[in-house]
Amino acid sequence: AMHDSGWGRVVLKLSGEAFAGGEDLGIDAGVVEYLAESIASAVAEGIEVAVVVGGGNMFRGSAMSERGMERGRADYMGMLGTVINCLALQDFLERQGVETRVQTSIHMSQVAEAYIPRRAVRHLQKGRVVIFGAGLGAPFFSTDTTAAQRALEIGAKAVLKGTQVDGVYDSDPHRNPSAVKFDRLDYNEVLTRGLKVMDATAVSLCMDNGLPIVVFDLMAEGNIVRAVRGEKMGTIVCP
Ligand code: UDP
Repeated sequence: AMHDSGWGRVVLKLSGEAFAGGEDLGIDAGVVEYLAESIASAVAEGIEVAVVVGGGNMFRGSAMSERGMERGRADYMGMLGTVINCLALQDFLERQGVETRVQTSIHMSQVAEAYIPRRAVRHLQKGRVVIFGAGLGAPFFSTDTTAAQRALEIGAKAVLKGTQVDGVYDSDPHRNPSAVKFDRLDYNEVLTRGLKVMDATAVSLCMDNGLPIVVFDLMAEGNIVRAVRGEKMGTIVCP
């Protein structure tokens, strides 16, 4: 990781689960406020931050398709759910005095711009936070894969994946007290050992393009700022 200069431009992936706080569904305003404050501090340091927002707190396509719903339709519902989270984050960021734009892969011009990569870069250069919603706009993908794709397309130097644990372990640290944390991994190890970093599509996209992934504890005090600065933390997956 780059200690002094930071990553310069990053994509921060926020799971829908985080937005729900302790609840199963919906949005915990306290959590979103905390995320917005942290992102505001990062932007104040001059780092360009784009955010990809998940939707697991609203709707998960795979769960509904297991109940018989057509997978494509269920996934579109999932993508629409992410946009609700985007607007919540946008509101809290703007109240922090941060300029923002939401760009969605599914057109909804009253609430968001269309995803236009070069415009997104322009916003970032002006110090705005760009919030990407509606995933890739295509079923059978995830917002983790979206984070990797957007990072590559807008020239971000890393995908920062905020999670509920402080890195990647060889087994579930909540269940196994002797689980061992990795400081660094390579992509192949993640894929062959089936480690829970991001889904395989996202990891292989990062692998093919040498894009680093930093997995870190999203809610630990000061972590978002440290992550965007490029400080050593959590687990880094890199070439
Ligand atoms: N989704 C999709 N295509 C995408 C991104 C998301 O179909 O490119 C759907 C999918 O149904 C997924 C839901 O949107 O379950 C919410 O996204 P995700 O599960 O990635 O959210 P997170 O786990 O980060 O909360």
